[in-house]
Amino acid sequence: MSDKKTALIIGVTSQDGSYLADLLLEKGYKVVGTIRRTTSFHKDNIAHLLGKITIEAADLTDPESINQVVDKYKPDEVYNIAAQSVPADSWSHPFYTAEVTALGIVRVLEAVRHFAPKAKVYQATSREIFGNIEAEAATEKTPIDGNNPYGIAKAYAHMMVKCYRESYNMFVVGGILFNHESPRRSLHFVTRKISSGAAIIKNKVKNPPVNELGEPLVDSEGKLHMGLLDAKRDWGYAKEYVEAMWLMLQQDTPKDYVIGTNTTNTVKEACKVAFEHVGLNWEDHVVTNEKLMRPTEIKELKGDYSLAKKELGWEPKTSFEELIKLMVDADLERFK
Ligand code: NDP
Repeated sequence: MSDKKTALIIGVTSQDGSYLADLLLEKGYKVVGTIRRTTSFHKDNIAHLLGKITIEAADLTDPESINQVVDKYKPDEVYNIAAQSVPADSWSHPFYTAEVTALGIVRVLEAVRHFAPKAKVYQATSREIFGNIEAEAATEKTPIDGNNPYGIAKAYAHMMVKCYRESYNMFVVGGILFNHESPRRSLHFVTRKISSGAAIIKNKVKNPPVNELGEPLVDSEGKLHMGLLDAKRDWGYAKEYVEAMWLMLQQDTPKDYVIGTNTTNTVKEACKVAFEHVGLNWEDHVVTNEKLMRPTEIKELKGDYSLAKKELGWEPKTSFEELIKLMVDADLERFK
């Protein structure tokens, strides 16, 4: 029998799932990744992984599909990365968000409890569980105060993680991750909109992809449409954040950790770095669009990662400017 550890990544097509698969393969794991059954297969983030990982179809709304995959592989580690992950879409799809983002992990925990009770489980919690809390920086002790359907769904999931840990003595942790970005980030998110917008405008791309409104990301006048430009976020590099996920499961005691950079920047600053990187003035190309504003914003909040630094030896390495520039460089290559 092989002594290779088996890791199950639920949601392997995601930004984080695909980087995590890269990391676990490097570490010698057998990696099983789940995708949703669809008729078309266009999964850019995992194109390079095909043949290296085992792919299974499973859906967080379908408990039988989760049971089957957990029972079949009896993994040592399970990473629930999947979610309806777009806070902005959670207002238009509150039921679906609850079904997937809140209840999904319960289906995973039940499957693990019955079919692989020794497995260690990672749940992708989010900074959005803190909503509009008045604090400069969040720690693991900051009260939960979600203020949008996505944040509230993640808050429920996070509390269920604690509940299963305490009630069933299972090794389950929630990584409370602040925003993390990369060239694999979906185009629904602000940093990718900015990096791809700058690249599309610079390279004068004719048929840009569409945004979440179904409108061209860059309009016919070369303008990139954005929501609130003064919004502040704590942004880190996804490739580094998946290392923290893995480290959390290598500990002797299951515990939740905040992962962030403890700094914030505005959307405006991201625009400035991106457009200057391609030799353009962002103010000539970025416009705000009311339709892209959230019904309720979240306040500035930094992710205090002191506990992760102390206990996991984890800290962020890539600066905000480096991150934005590497994303723009990748998009310049993609949108030639
Ligand atoms: P993505 O948005 O890139 O990917 C979401 C993943 O969830 C995709 O693989 C998607 O599959 C899958 N998925 C969606 N619905 C279902 C379903 N019903 N059943 C099974 N799979 C489903 O995620 P990120 O990499 O950005 O984030 C990873 C996780 O971390 C998410 O849970 C997110 O909410 C959370 N998070 C992310 C942060 C960030 O800044 N990136 C910050 C904090 C938390 P498909 O390809 O089929 O759509």
